[in-house]
Amino acid sequence: MKTALVTGSSRGIGAATAALLAENGYSVCINYIERRDKAEELEACLRCRGCSVISHMADVSDPDAVNAMVRRIESELGNVTLLVNNAGIGEQHQFQDISPELWKRMFDVNLGGCFNSIRAVLPHMLHEHSGSIVNVSSIWGNHGASCEVAYSCTKHAIIGLTRSLAAELAPSGIRVNCVAPGVIDTDMVKVLGEETLSMLADDIPMGRLGRPEEIARMILNLAEAEYTTGQVVTVDGGFII
Ligand code: NAD
Repeated sequence: MKTALVTGSSRGIGAATAALLAENGYSVCINYIERRDKAEELEACLRCRGCSVISHMADVSDPDAVNAMVRRIESELGNVTLLVNNAGIGEQHQFQDISPELWKRMFDVNLGGCFNSIRAVLPHMLHEHSGSIVNVSSIWGNHGASCEVAYSCTKHAIIGLTRSLAAELAPSGIRVNCVAPGVIDTDMVKVLGEETLSMLADDIPMGRLGRPEEIARMILNLAEAEYTTGQVVTVDGGFII
């Protein structure tokens, strides 16, 4: 029995991942914080295809809300065997314009969300001596990003989390891996505007932005790569080689 929780999965990379996992035999929880309509639309669409799916609103930065979500998954779908820590926020500011509140929120959601979700699913994985966790970082988790210092710090931390936890949990039969996307065509990058996105596409050796489905494919690959742990796989069309 394969059961996946994909955080932040009403749209973008998370939605593509939830759909791909459901099509590959996972029971899936679509987690969302906003756009309930989108989450329910995806849930209905996957149910029509015979998939076992629920959707649940929870702010991943709130440990109680995450625990309640995981208890619901356990009672309705089964214990979580795959956690995809995808929920994330990003904003572009010069460093001197980052408020303490924004800095804290960025860490609470991007890194704290991973912490809360892992803590909620880990007891069962430890008990089963089995489980897979895939974290979503970014190329800016491996490289510096001007005007994205807070975001980049959280994504660097997610890579540290991946490597350290992988080392700690490997003897317990639990794998932890990470995908580092480049520029992917989702709502998160739409704020950059058409012109900037087009210039970015020109800078990418493969000549285009990535698609959410291409990140989802790598997440599924890592989720099921039985002898792979602690790895960070970049999926960026050759943007940073
Ligand atoms: P997106 O904005 O479409 O998706 C992010 C999702 O996370 C949304 O559904 C949002 O509602 C959800 N979310 C935000 N805060 C949340 C919270 N507190 N609790 C629960 N859910 C929350 O963007 P995306 O591109 O699909 O991003 C998915 C992940 O991929 C993010 O972690 C992002 O940092 C990462 N990423 C994206 C790109 C890119 O170019 N799009 C590149 C590298 C990494």
